[in-house]
Amino acid sequence: MLGSVLESRERTPAALLVDAESALVASDVDTAKGLAAQAVAIAEAAGDAVMHARAITVLARVLYVRHDIAEAMSCVLTAIDLSTAMDDLPTLAKAHHVAARILVDTGDTTGGLEEGVAAMEAADSCGDLEAISAAARAMCNVYAALRQWERALTFAERYHEATRLLGDPTSECSAIDTVSFCYGGMASEAAERGDHEQAAELHEHTVVLSRWAMLMAREAGARRTEATAVANLAESLADCGRPQEGLDLLDSWPADPTRDTVPTIGHHRQTRGIILLALGRREEAAELLRLSIAEAPTRSHEINARRALASLLEDTGDLSGALTHYKRMLALLSDQASERAQLAAGVAAVRLETAQAQARALALANEAADLHENSEKLRRQAMEDPLTGLPNRRRLDELLASDLTTSSVVILDVDHFKRVNDDHSHLVGDSVLRVLAGLMRGSCRQGDTVARFGGEEFAMVMRGVSREGAIALAERTRQAVEGYDWASLAPGIAVTASFGAALGTEATTSIELLALADSRLRAAKAAGRNRVVGPPA
Ligand code: GH3
Ligand code: MG
Ligand code: MG
Repeated sequence: MLGSVLESRERTPAALLVDAESALVASDVDTAKGLAAQAVAIAEAAGDAVMHARAITVLARVLYVRHDIAEAMSCVLTAIDLSTAMDDLPTLAKAHHVAARILVDTGDTTGGLEEGVAAMEAADSCGDLEAISAAARAMCNVYAALRQWERALTFAERYHEATRLLGDPTSECSAIDTVSFCYGGMASEAAERGDHEQAAELHEHTVVLSRWAMLMAREAGARRTEATAVANLAESLADCGRPQEGLDLLDSWPADPTRDTVPTIGHHRQTRGIILLALGRREEAAELLRLSIAEAPTRSHEINARRALASLLEDTGDLSGALTHYKRMLALLSDQASERAQLAAGVAAVRLETAQAQARALALANEAADLHENSEKLRRQAMEDPLTGLPNRRRLDELLASDLTTSSVVILDVDHFKRVNDDHSHLVGDSVLRVLAGLMRGSCRQGDTVARFGGEEFAMVMRGVSREGAIALAERTRQAVEGYDWASLAPGIAVTASFGAALGTEATTSIELLALADSRLRAAKAAGRNRVVGPPA
């Protein structure tokens, strides 16, 4: 035991899933659950999202077979999420297939149909045979629940075709059985319509199909599948008016308690009861049905057995006996309905929780995006002058520090700016500063930077410009300032500016470079303003 645990611990999730599938086929659902859960844990810990999605889809199917419906749905939703994110269509199809079956079982056929369609779409887009087989099976299940037999048959045939191409005889037997089941549904419908000829013809189909499934299972050595096929064939023969053949077939295949499961034995016993009834051997049939009731593996088995027994007793005139079984059957049906409603409520709760968790995750992601945007905004603000929108002093320092030797700088200071404020207003002064910002940008090349250096002082930074280039830029800007139609801002204003230029090669730090430019600016002021002073030739 310990050995096998240790061994399985070293195994890959893919290998664990293969074993989980085999355990599921062998009806060992507890082992299958353990293996699938282990595969999920390993894949999740390894951060392998694709394997995680695959493993949790298998786990969902195992939980569904175990009737852990809400838990299965929770796994399905995770699987759908993960496989959608990974764009893993085969897994997505299989996950939707499990969702469809869960919803159909809880009575939500509309939801089941939606999931079935989603499964079929995903499967058809990827063409994966296993996915097509699962999806078609889910669709068949939905239409069978809706008693739309012809549609169910179409998908049963697709299911069969996919399993045939996969070359797995056990799955193919189940698929053939499903096709046969659909013909059976169509036959009952024909009989209800009173079209007995059609019903007989359809029943003949079920005989042929069940026999096919039985022989194929026998050849593949799949005893459990063979047992199901034998019981189905026996019942089909009885439906075709050949009950004795059915009974002979059952006798030729004795169920063995050491090898066969309780549901298999129950299925055979019940089929035998139905056939004995058809043969008019009521006493023996009643005895078998009583045994079936006593040993029914599931509630629905008990319901079917009680229904058959009640009907038998009614026919023999034992009305009080019939009533007892009908009453008990009604109570079981009502239990079944309320349990179904509870399951449906459980599944709905899981879906709601998942939707809420997804909404919360989305809100968190949005919040994070908002935070990021805000911090970006703050960062920009910290580097930007609010009046002109130009980079500020901090940004200017960063820029110069990043590459001093190849940078040149021109500083601009408005001449007699105090007067503009005093004579016109601070607001007009602000407008002048904004216009200046635009003029400086206009005279720079792309790649140059204009920054607000201080109150009414600006700096233009260029990369790799010569003395002549720096002076030319300053001169161009000086003329643009002087030539601007300032009177359009306020009557009577005229604005000029003084400029100091310095080259990165003249300084060893950005502070030194700015100080040099500033000293030339002061020289320009001293020389009468509205002029440029640059590095000496
Ligand atoms: P100079 O030719 O010597 O430079 O004379 P000036 O009047 O321009 O003298 P100074 O540079 O010392 O004066 C700067 C003035 O700029 C002082 C201040 O009121 C004004 N100022 C600084 N920042 C702003 C601003 O954001 N808006 C406005 N409207 N005025 C500002
Ligand atoms: Mg100044
Ligand atoms: Mg000034």
